Amino acid sequence: MVIAYKHEPFTDFSVEENHLAYTKALQTVEGYLGQDYDVVIGGERITTEDKIVSHNPANKKEVIGRVSKADQELAEKAMQAAVKAFKTWKKVKPEFRADVLLKAAAIIRRRKHEFSALLTKEAGKPWREADADTAEAIDFLEYYARQMLLIKDGAPVQSRPNEFNRYDYIPLGVGIIISPWNFPFAIMAGTTVAAIVTGNTVLLKPASATPIIAAKFVEVMEEAGLPKGVLNFVPGSGAEVGDYLVDHKDTRFISFTGSRDVGLRIFERASKVNDGQIWIKRVIAEMGGKDTIVVDKEADLELAAKSIVTSAFGFSGQKCSACSRAVVVEDVYDQVLERVVALTNELTQGDPTDYANYMATVIDQSAYNKIMGYIEIGKQEGKLLTGGEGNDLIGYFIQPTVFADLSPDSRIMKEEIFGPVVGFTKAKDFDHAIEIANDTEYGLTGAVITNNREHIEKAREDFHVGNLYFNRGCTGAIVGYQPFGGFNMSGTDSKAGGPDYLLLHMQAKTSSEML
Ligand code: GLU
Repeated sequence: MVIAYKHEPFTDFSVEENHLAYTKALQTVEGYLGQDYDVVIGGERITTEDKIVSHNPANKKEVIGRVSKADQELAEKAMQAAVKAFKTWKKVKPEFRADVLLKAAAIIRRRKHEFSALLTKEAGKPWREADADTAEAIDFLEYYARQMLLIKDGAPVQSRPNEFNRYDYIPLGVGIIISPWNFPFAIMAGTTVAAIVTGNTVLLKPASATPIIAAKFVEVMEEAGLPKGVLNFVPGSGAEVGDYLVDHKDTRFISFTGSRDVGLRIFERASKVNDGQIWIKRVIAEMGGKDTIVVDKEADLELAAKSIVTSAFGFSGQKCSACSRAVVVEDVYDQVLERVVALTNELTQGDPTDYANYMATVIDQSAYNKIMGYIEIGKQEGKLLTGGEGNDLIGYFIQPTVFADLSPDSRIMKEEIFGPVVGFTKAKDFDHAIEIANDTEYGLTGAVITNNREHIEKAREDFHVGNLYFNRGCTGAIVGYQPFGGFNMSGTDSKAGGPDYLLLHMQAKTSSEML
């Protein structure tokens, strides 16, 4: 009997023992920096000449590790391994599959700080952000294991006299998992195990900026008893390996998390039926956001300012849930803005290995250049109130940046920046604020700070986002508590960590027997 699901608590680093444990974990990780990791196909480790080199974004010269890079030939070999493993894995009892996830969760929990410390080094995550990423990875394993046990016998259907009807969920086949660098542990592990626990076999192509945490996760799954060939590890370039696998006739589904443009490209390519393909591919896509916090005039303004600052600048704004727009009713606009600027100026920034730093870097040079480009645009479009400077000499540091008095149509208020930049715009009243908030092609998260009950109900109905929060920030969804996914160009609203998620990786089979 499995005990009820409960999310993994975050670590309290004010407790000395925890603080010390994290410091030690950073040393452990430093002890194995620069190692080589292999492609894994059918349980076989394959070393290639060509490598993806993972760097520390806070210290560009430091190599976190090197992973062998799969080419099309290896991608094909991995596909064949996954096709073969599917024949047996799909028949393995759901209980066994769920057990593998629970064992993996236990292994990760034992080495929790080590994985978080690796995220600090590889992704530039400050301690608390890294700790939350690892906790979420554990949550996905625990939650999906239990969800599988709930759906393993299908769903109830009626039978007439002398008839025996069943409605069962069966796996789809081989899935391609293309995971992001911003939750390099949680989303990578969550999307992978959702596919696996439902009886599919997968090819995991991790984000090229953060392949080492993914390589470590593959080791954990092996240690937890996952049979060979179920999880194949194929780091590689999107253009070479990604496209090849998305197009492949044996690919049954693609689970993608990343940018809007790449998501749409995958969706388009997946829609083409290639020679020998006998199904319509399924695409699960979690893409971008242009997430808004709306502040009403009857509201706790301190809470509003704090919610905006933490949602905009946590992990340097590199969450698709991050607040990149604040829409404030004009009566309280100046007050909220002033408080946000003051709180922003208090934020500490620097190397993420130092617990004192609330913020660190952005992920790489191209992100740095893109965000700095948007900051220049912001200076033309609005008023720069704080931040605006970057420094990429040692690592990719960009100050938390606040722009005020933007037009709702400005690029800063419309386009996804994916960095520590938040834009403010004034609304005439609450209805106007919701109208501005909805005026985007995205629809991922949003928050409303208000003490007005009618306005809460209005927003519940009219604010068109997949994850809507009241009187709190718009980041930090918890698996099993706030299933996560968005509308419109934010993706297929495939709610990760929710009760329907596993079903996206399955197909239902009706059988009817005359008695
Ligand atoms: N689930 C995360 C949150 O609620 C965001 C995930 C993402 O950025 O992709 O903050």
